[in-house]
Amino acid sequence: MKPLVIIAEVMDGSLRSVTWELIAAARVIQRLKKLQSDQREEKEGADQKNFPVIQVIVPGQNPMPLAEKISSATGTDVLALKIPNLAAYTSEAYKNCLGPLIRELAPSHILVAHTSQGRDFAPGLAVRLRAASISGVNKIRSHEEGLLYSRPVLNNTRNMVLRPEPGFPLVLTIMPGIFSPQASGVKHPGSIILKEIFSGGGQVRMDHQKILKNKSNHQKLKQAQTIVAAGRGVGERSNLESVLRFAETFSASAVGASRPLVDMGWIGHDNQVGITGASVAPRLYIACGISGSSQHLAGMKESDWVVSINKNFQAPICSHSDLCITADVMDFIHSFMEED
Ligand SMILES: Cc1cc2nc3c(=O)[nH]c(=O)nc-3n(C[C@H](O)[C@H](O)[C@H](O)COP(=O)(O)OP(=O)(O)OC[C@H]3O[C@@H](n4cnc5c(N)ncnc54)[C@H](O)[C@@H]3O)c2cc1C
Repeated sequence: MKPLVIIAEVMDGSLRSVTWELIAAARVIQRLKKLQSDQREEKEGADQKNFPVIQVIVPGQNPMPLAEKISSATGTDVLALKIPNLAAYTSEAYKNCLGPLIRELAPSHILVAHTSQGRDFAPGLAVRLRAASISGVNKIRSHEEGLLYSRPVLNNTRNMVLRPEPGFPLVLTIMPGIFSPQASGVKHPGSIILKEIFSGGGQVRMDHQKILKNKSNHQKLKQAQTIVAAGRGVGERSNLESVLRFAETFSASAVGASRPLVDMGWIGHDNQVGITGASVAPRLYIACGISGSSQHLAGMKESDWVVSINKNFQAPICSHSDLCITADVMDFIHSFMEED
């Protein structure tokens, strides 16, 4: 059976933790394919007990230490792709180096993180591989004719379900914060193959200059013991004043926010929690009128205790909360503060 290939996410020579989530997602595909193959065997009597192996590609100038880390922690096979002249990531260099290598491996799936880096090179890689491509996968499930993949659409209020035609390689960008890495009780490390490729030739049309730090400073959020985070459910910009006073009733607290509030200019990006904001791990996280999108959850899932206040008890945040208070958020805050 064709392998499942994962492109590890490497930034500044370090492995980004989303790589473990890609391995978890590949294991979901592996398990579903095995289940389907077992069912076919039962139905047709043929011995089809084979299922895809997972191969992780680690690109970089010095990929061996990272490859060893992955192989020993997960037992998966790793291809360390040494690119001596790749001082820093560019989508062009990645596509030039990964394209021919992946073509050789002929995988059924290529898994990439749905991060700023993955979103940058994955679509172009899919074009080079003549592969189908699905961006932002947040669910994978079995279907009688293969696997179905979901991705959020319409500002995360709906999920689009896709069934790829068989016979084409499939590039998937996997939404962070969805597929949890499992402790796998590894008995043996996976194999490691080292391969060297020079990026470049006449095809390089851009050069990485530098990464400038943006002005956001999430320090206050990261240091807070309690975060009171406001979402679209607070209704109006003026209500943020009450949210602020509510937050001040807790010691060592800070105010967080979901992205729409930042996008509407109600609050600064310093306050945004989520994959494109801060990742926080306070003792207590109070989500006020926040639905619990995967992008928001990715930033606050390490909180010790989560309390959500939402008028809809079926909002996804409730299943990630230790306590879900079903109420109008501003009514709750005013009663808590004994305000009118
Ligand atoms: C590439 C990408 C990156 C993103 N990065 C981030 C990120 O870093 N952080 C982030 O937060 N989002 C991010 N998003 C946006 C994300 O998909 C969601 O759109 C966003 O998190 C939703 O914010 P929300 O929960 O405040 O709003 P909504 O989803 O609109 O939810 C509002 C919630 O409030 C509840 N509510 C409504 N009225 C009341 C009331 N009166 N009282 C109580 N509850 C009420 C509703 O039931 C609902 O659950 C990103 C999206 C993309 C595509």
